[in-house]
Amino acid sequence: MRLLKEKLMVDKELLDILACPSCKGDVFLEKDKIVCKKCGLKYPIKDGIPIMLVEEAGRD
Ligand SMILES: [Zn+2]
Repeated sequence: MRLLKEKLMVDKELLDILACPSCKGDVFLEKDKIVCKKCGLKYPIKDGIPIMLVEEAGRD
């Protein structure tokens, strides 16, 4: 696995595995956030790791 130093990249395979913890909806990558297709909550990515916690999610 390559080091993620220049750009935050999340594997498509990882996105397939991830689901919104709030509504269990599918998620997609938007810039540096993971966004739920269903409820629109946005989850931050820290150090290349998606933080799939409702408490960390926002709608901005
Ligand atoms: Zn959701």
